[in-house]
Amino acid sequence: MRKPFVAGNWKMHGSKASIKDLMTGLNAKSGLIGDVTVAICPPAVYLDYTHKCLAGDGIFVGAQNMCQVPGQGAYTGELSASMLKDCGCQYVILGHSERRAIYGETDALIAEKVSVALDSGLTPILCVGETLEEREANQVESVIGRQLDAVLNKVGIDKFSAIVIAYEPVWAIGTGKTASSAQAQEVHAFIRGKLAGLNPAVAEKVIIQYGGSVKPDNAKELFGQPDIDGGLIGGASLNADDFMAICQAA
Ligand code: PEP
Repeated sequence: MRKPFVAGNWKMHGSKASIKDLMTGLNAKSGLIGDVTVAICPPAVYLDYTHKCLAGDGIFVGAQNMCQVPGQGAYTGELSASMLKDCGCQYVILGHSERRAIYGETDALIAEKVSVALDSGLTPILCVGETLEEREANQVESVIGRQLDAVLNKVGIDKFSAIVIAYEPVWAIGTGKTASSAQAQEVHAFIRGKLAGLNPAVAEKVIIQYGGSVKPDNAKELFGQPDIDGGLIGGASLNADDFMAICQAA
């Protein structure tokens, strides 16, 4: 039985004042979460602050990106896995479609980051997903297969039990267009099936989140699908009531 996992990706939103308010709301409701792992991923400059705002142990903190180089060094503007851990992170989102599309992150770079995160004891949330053009060209499985293969070739299938996968169709992110539960389940089943072809026990364990315009009113149906183990939530994670309602749906 896989424990559902819901993570909030705050992207480039917030200030100390707004985070304080949001955390007051989340802390007040964290006792209602139930048997679900919950994480929040603030902008990097607020990781430490957010971690310090947490009351109780029900919510974990994650980062939205990380440098592919382990340790320290001359990498201006970058943040290492050990720095993220030092600021209270247990998770790191890697390969988000915004990083891939806007910052040109390649499959190979993302695979390196996943490998470094694993070696450092951070749990990567590896995002995969197709664009609308790719879906319309019937390339969903080849695109996601390619994105997964880059990481599989780098770290090997056995490490996947320590990786969270987030299936995020690019056309559903921040657009208000959610994949139907059947569309999402089909891709989740493809991902789990691909991993099962390499190691059935790992495939059975791996958490696969859905991300893309998840809201309180569609979360239950999405999370009710057999291969959907929770969600990666963007916009709705900036509202404590909505985020907690999504967590409770998981
Ligand atoms: C995301 O960016 O990871 C995401 C799922 O965003 P939204 O929920 O706003 O679509």
